[in-house]
Parts: sequence; C-alpha cells; structure tokens
Amino acid sequence: MNIDSTTRTIAGRPIRACSSCGAPIVWFVTKNLAHHPVDAGTVGAADLELDLQSKKNPQGKHISHFATCPNADQHRKKGK
Ligand SMILES: [Zn+2]
Repeated sequence: MNIDSTTRTIAGRPIRACSSCGAPIVWFVTKNLAHHPVDAGTVGAADLELDLQSKKNPQGKHISHFATCPNADQHRKKGK
C-alpha cells in the first residue's frame, strides 16, 4: 500500500508507514504519555483520543499496531 505520509492525515495526525512492515499507522499519545501506533484503518476522522481495543475494552475502536504488525518484536526493542 502506498500512502503519501506528507499529505494524508486522520484527525489531524499524519499517517506514517510502519518502519518494519510498511503498514499505514497513526501515532497516538496514551494517558501515560507514551506514543502508541494504531492501525490507520481503524482510526476515524473524529477520533481525537486513543480508544484501544483490548480484552478489557472490547468495544474500543482502535487496534494497536503492536497486535497486527508481523514484526512486532522489533518494535519492543530499542533501535532497529
Ligand atoms: Zn508494522
């Protein structure tokens, strides 16, 4: 998938390509001020706050890219 990250945005956030798998992702800041990548396809134009889908929050709108990235292990390590 080819997304021009310089022009496409969702809810004012730029769409980036995952550095390991290339999927379109949008970065949110969590309540703990950590940056968290979310699959861009799950983010709507009015989604200003992170609403991660999880076992605790099955109705959440956003799916963490950590859950879907085929190279998720690389995200958890520092550096590349
Ligand atoms: Zn990825």
